[in-house]
Amino acid sequence: MMTDSVELTGNDFTEDKYARLRLITWWDQERLRDATIMVVGAGAIGNELIKDISLLGVGNILIVDMDVIENSNLTRSVLFRAKDVGRPKAEVAAERAMEMNPDIKAKALSLNVINDIGLGVFRRVNLVLGGLDNREARLAINQACYKVNKPWVDGSIEILNGFARVFTPPDGACYECTMTETDWKLINKRKSCALLTHEQMVEGKIPTTPTSSAIIAGIQVQEMLKLLHSDRGLPTLAGKCYVFNGITHDSYIAEYQRKPDCMSHDTYSNINEMPWSVHSFTLGEIVNAVKADMGEEAVVDFDRDFASVAVCSCGECKELFTPVHRLRAESVICPNCGIAMNFELFHSLDGAEVFLDKTVGEIGVPPLHILSGRVGTTSKYYEFSADEPEIFSDFSGGGQHQ
Ligand SMILES: [Zn+2]
Ligand SMILES: [Zn+2]
Repeated sequence: MMTDSVELTGNDFTEDKYARLRLITWWDQERLRDATIMVVGAGAIGNELIKDISLLGVGNILIVDMDVIENSNLTRSVLFRAKDVGRPKAEVAAERAMEMNPDIKAKALSLNVINDIGLGVFRRVNLVLGGLDNREARLAINQACYKVNKPWVDGSIEILNGFARVFTPPDGACYECTMTETDWKLINKRKSCALLTHEQMVEGKIPTTPTSSAIIAGIQVQEMLKLLHSDRGLPTLAGKCYVFNGITHDSYIAEYQRKPDCMSHDTYSNINEMPWSVHSFTLGEIVNAVKADMGEEAVVDFDRDFASVAVCSCGECKELFTPVHRLRAESVICPNCGIAMNFELFHSLDGAEVFLDKTVGEIGVPPLHILSGRVGTTSKYYEFSADEPEIFSDFSGGGQHQ
């Protein structure tokens, strides 16, 4: 009789994959398995973030990035190969994450975080990791995270240097609190010429290396681990910044002050989950539902400006119905005169509008978003909860509330 038993001298190949992590006294692997983490940006830092959290067994990962892979990404992105050039970064990153660790689920959202990610998505994740290269996206994440009370961990690199910082609503300094006059000037300059092409919108390309991104992403993920184990009493970088100087290898911690007049500290209380979808519910139905709930004088407020129509002095009129941030110069040029038309904006509805037959999604409100109803200074919040499966159906728990 043949025996083909294998001698495992000294090596135990059957050891649980996470055994060495479980040795950490405060570690809870099941907590990582059950966690849902949103990574915004799949560039140099994002690749490192996704690599780390996949290896660690974070069970549900949402990857948000609207760009495609270019040749120059290959020197700084562990998840991308030459054959991937031209494919969406988020999609490739999600595939590689699940290949590295088949225990996890990663979902790609090839979208712009500024317009396209509903607040209900933020509400259903444990925290957000940022791998971004521009202030506007950071500001958008910061405001969303404060509205639904979720921590976020920002990372930034330049050549050999970098920093990592943590923002934990509703307390402490937020990203906007850290912004200097120069930061605002740069943002406002971009806003004042709001109608730029996508190429112009992208801030000047920053020289980066895979070494600094690995260092900074490593710090961010360690902060994530501490935040997920918040009951263990580990100190975090909340309201602080870890500054790394890669020339001298000096590092230090800077502390931020919370600004009392900061505009980003708005936190939504008692959000109502409605059986509504942005794809089928019309603006008129929303207005009626909110009035039925709050009274005839109630108005519906959006958290962003939308462009309705563009009009020209020659009489030309064109429907836009898009978030202002998404408007492009070419879309408001008068076909007759070749000059820029004036366009009308709205950010609330009182029921008298002529375009109430449009669905909420048609004007560019993202799935699972949250709108507010307001009477005077009293607000109530309504979530398009029927959109949940669109984002979370692949995940275990399907987007459980934290
Ligand atoms: Zn602030
Ligand atoms: Zn005209």
